[in-house]
Amino acid sequence: MRLILLGPPGSGKGTQAQLLSQRRNLEHVGTGDILREAIRRNTPAGQRAKPYVVSGKLVPDDLVNDLVSDRFRREDRPKCFIMDGYPRTLAQASAFDKVLAEQKLNLTAVVLLEVDDAEIVRRLSGRWSCETLGCKATYHTVSNPPKLAGNCDRCGSKLVQRDDDKEETVKERLRVYHADTVELIPYYRSRGLIRAVPGDGDIEEIYNNILRELNCQAGSAC
Ligand code: AMP
Repeated sequence: MRLILLGPPGSGKGTQAQLLSQRRNLEHVGTGDILREAIRRNTPAGQRAKPYVVSGKLVPDDLVNDLVSDRFRREDRPKCFIMDGYPRTLAQASAFDKVLAEQKLNLTAVVLLEVDDAEIVRRLSGRWSCETLGCKATYHTVSNPPKLAGNCDRCGSKLVQRDDDKEETVKERLRVYHADTVELIPYYRSRGLIRAVPGDGDIEEIYNNILRELNCQAGSAC
């Protein structure tokens, strides 16, 4: 399968992308993760992206398009993948279309996770994630707490809160989503690719609803 996960920040894209990648053997391409890693390593792309990421704004299209197209032009390019957080603008969607056409890859579907804004603000202010880069596990103080407060269940590392999960920045990220990213819904709907799934409720239930929308059986290859 070749999927794009679309939805507001905090709609659970990262969590569902992780499940789909582990259980369906899809490569998880998360531009937020790639950018945070570039910032942490202080690369030229990271230095350019940092002011946008910390203030909740979108980094310029050319920067993120280059990161993604480089990934898809490498020899070990993803063949079956899940895009998490990309594309986020029409310019990115059209750049991604070109990369996919060049690599002769068709999209299977665009999964739209639907969650309202008040719920997003509640969720993100309680979100914590593992500080170990290869782990990526995320938790929520209310809905998905770690067994031992402050520590990752999976690898035992410390849990940290993202700078851009502060309430004011979350509101800015939501504004940006409504201003720039929702335009992608009609763009992909006109091509029959949108599969809308409510993003509220239990993580496993949402996952199963995604599989159902994609017409996949729980244990089968799809
Ligand atoms: P995320 O982890 O997907 O919520 O992304 C965190 C931040 O990284 C966003 O608020 C943006 O500043 C930046 N970012 C991630 N993906 C993109 C993208 N496709 N286009 C522009 N900025 C992005």
